[in-house]
Amino acid sequence: MGALALLDDERYVTVIPERFRFSDENPLTLEPFGRNKFGDLPPYVEDVITDVVGLTEAKWEALVDAGETYSVVGPFRYYSLAPLFQSFAARKHRPGPTGMCPDCWGTLAACDTDGSVTGTVGAAFVCDCAGV
Ligand SMILES: [Zn+2]
Repeated sequence: MGALALLDDERYVTVIPERFRFSDENPLTLEPFGRNKFGDLPPYVEDVITDVVGLTEAKWEALVDAGETYSVVGPFRYYSLAPLFQSFAARKHRPGPTGMCPDCWGTLAACDTDGSVTGTVGAAFVCDCAGV
């Protein structure tokens, strides 16, 4: 009975790696990132598309519609989420934007500041507010 109770209490957590590929599974849709449009992607992936890859939202949507995203981002190329991880430090001493989730500031990426969620201090995980 004890083991069963433990399973019931266990939280399902999706850890966000420090780098990802567009062929990796989007935790919000369970499809590859490269097949999903803005709005279905976590904001931290949308930021990579606009800030690192250099595409506008409209251009990305057109590539998804055409099934051509991988010709631009490459299915197996790794993209760093370093800017996201660097942003966690700023959350410690400031309240988040008004109306945004206080745990992730609307990024859907929460920081495990004490390691109690993922077992790793400073790791990122998909915030509860994502509802996945
Ligand atoms: Zn949140």
